[in-house]
Amino acid sequence: MKIGVVGCAGRMGRMLVAEILANKGCELAGGTEMVGSPAIGQDVAVLAGRPGSGLQVGDDAGALMAVADLVVDFTVPDATAAHARQAAEHATAMVIGTTGLSAEQQALIHALARKAPVVQAANMSVGINLLLGLTEQVAKSLGDDFDIEILEMHHRHKIDAPSGTALALGDAAAKGRQVDLAAVAQRVRDGHTGERKPGDIGFATLRGGDVAGEHSVIFAGEAEQIVLSHKATSRAIFVRGAIRAALWTEGRPPGLYSMRDVLGLT
Ligand code: NAD
Repeated sequence: MKIGVVGCAGRMGRMLVAEILANKGCELAGGTEMVGSPAIGQDVAVLAGRPGSGLQVGDDAGALMAVADLVVDFTVPDATAAHARQAAEHATAMVIGTTGLSAEQQALIHALARKAPVVQAANMSVGINLLLGLTEQVAKSLGDDFDIEILEMHHRHKIDAPSGTALALGDAAAKGRQVDLAAVAQRVRDGHTGERKPGDIGFATLRGGDVAGEHSVIFAGEAEQIVLSHKATSRAIFVRGAIRAALWTEGRPPGLYSMRDVLGLT
């Protein structure tokens, strides 16, 4: 499968390029960066710490969509929305890991998914996808007398909060309780907040250092707590998951798929 990487100079982008080069089932179709990036013109593989590939980093994602079977996107929401529009023109499959998309940006991904297979997940690790299922199950079993709080920590460079994974865990908990997350989410608390509202799902965000991703779902009851947690110690788990998702799309009909579909957890 010929795979392109948009945002190939990013933290995830470089690791994705290295993984594609190392995986026998994949061929690197090329990489792009944002217009004006110092990475433009450099060798995509050298940027990823590998021997030269002869492929230079470009800034024309449309041209990459035209030659790639699939494009992997871990960039920023504006760029991902633009890439989804371009991919739709070429019916190019995508794996999307970018988090923090607005409803309008998400609509462009739905439009692409009518033309090509798309795997989108806020977290591509096996462990987190298991945690999503467990969270839904525990929320369903425990009922409203346990308060649900979601705590996450990420590295200092992360630009969105709460993390896409924390929100996905919130969604899983809300689904287990058969409520709409938007109606019960407490994303920030500050100052004189008053007592916790029964049924709320709370979020707390920590940022610092080089933490790859830590998430805990706390079910706090009277005199007991259940805590489900996951720690990523390397971004390699997301990279491996993304490439597994890319290969999984081969021969699939157009549609929007989750990592739980890829892992057979649905
Ligand atoms: P990063 O800032 O290191 O990399 C983003 C890259 O995208 C940068 O190199 C930037 O120049 C590039 N970019 C921006 N606009 C572009 C454009 N128009 N065209 C091409 N490239 C463009 O960030 P990161 O740590 O690699 O994370 C990227 C995204 O992936 C974030 O939203 C993060 O939350 C998400 N993420 C998801 C998972 C997952 O498993 N789903 C895991 C890790 C990170």
